[in-house]
Amino acid sequence: MGKDLIKLVGGPTIQDQTMPNDIDMAKENAHKIVDFIADYYKTLQDLPVLSQVKPGYLSELLPDSAPQWPESLQDVLDDVHQKIIPGVTHWQSPNYFAYYPSNSSIAGFLGEMLSAGFNIVGFSWITSPAATELEVIVLDWLAKMLKLPNQFLSSGFGGGVIQGTASEAVLVAVLAARDKVLRKVGKEALNKLTVYASDQTHSSLQKACQIAGIYPENFRLLKADQSSNYSLDPEALSEAISNDLSSHFIPFFLCATVGTTSSAAVDPLRDLGKIAKENHLWFHVDAAYGGSACICPEYRHYIDGVEGADSFGMNAHKWLLTNFDCSLLWVKDRSALIQSLSTCPEFLKNKASQENAVVDFKDWQIPLGRRFRLWPLAHSLLSVFVSFHHYRTRTMATS
Ligand SMILES: *Cc1c(COP(=O)(O)O)cnc(C)c1O
Repeated sequence: MGKDLIKLVGGPTIQDQTMPNDIDMAKENAHKIVDFIADYYKTLQDLPVLSQVKPGYLSELLPDSAPQWPESLQDVLDDVHQKIIPGVTHWQSPNYFAYYPSNSSIAGFLGEMLSAGFNIVGFSWITSPAATELEVIVLDWLAKMLKLPNQFLSSGFGGGVIQGTASEAVLVAVLAARDKVLRKVGKEALNKLTVYASDQTHSSLQKACQIAGIYPENFRLLKADQSSNYSLDPEALSEAISNDLSSHFIPFFLCATVGTTSSAAVDPLRDLGKIAKENHLWFHVDAAYGGSACICPEYRHYIDGVEGADSFGMNAHKWLLTNFDCSLLWVKDRSALIQSLSTCPEFLKNKASQENAVVDFKDWQIPLGRRFRLWPLAHSLLSVFVSFHHYRTRTMATS
């Protein structure tokens, strides 16, 4: 009956193109796409990095309403070539130097293909145990590579989770911290909660505070200038906190940055952490940009003092050879996140979750659904290790 229906509306071509169990057709088309991408990479270097089109260019090239009949893959690829590529800014071009590096890798890219093939929506353990367990394991590996304190590992009270972006990471940290303090002082004190960061901090913190209902007038961006290499001055922080305390505010959140957006400044984590601890602030470290470098022993010192942090975020999709989006967040107290973000409607109940035997990452993030992002990350990490090992053995053999 289904097949008849397809015939009725579109004839055999629609059926050929859409039947998901026509694996041979899928394979042939996938090969064509891979060839197309390979050709793109071959010519990438010669394309203008910044798209040269004018706003609205695409509506002149495409019809007003969706096409009634399917086109062949070749026609679609021709369209991509002629109409889409001119409107692309080429982030993977070797001549691309805007914003930050978005360095994927062959491993990262192939991992994405695997992930797309499985198309898992792994919000709780039962929806794909491998997705959750691999994420837990790989985030523990990475925490160890970064030499994060043991409290950030899944074996204790903490653990790591993949968020879409650093903006989501800081948002969930603010929410967890907000609710933790409000549980102590009472919900009506929301208008008293204050947040601290330097004026070099990424705007994602401001957005997180807006979403979390923090009063905009309680958002303290402390001036950082040349005298401190654009890092947050611990004395200025202490002073701001004291002033607020004497005016009966409730300081609750501090965000430090490792690698600020405008100048890659690094805030002094150790001193800031001490102040946060003395004043019972949640201390978040945003190392979205700089964090990946700290895996190298010679750069690890930039996160010295991370021991004092409650949460630490880093974007694997910036320097860690992983496709966008893959932002890593570790927390010391996962129960704080879960208390803020957990819901348990009837349709999500299952034995493993109810026995508290598993991690359900839906309770560590804003959305319910989540993709299997770990294929790219695990795959690129493994490839990096393998190439590093080869490199080492080869250089050792020749020296
Ligand atoms: C890139 C960056 C962000 C924002 O990244 P998204 O993942 O796009 O939200 C936040 N903070 C710092 C320091 C960054 O470098």
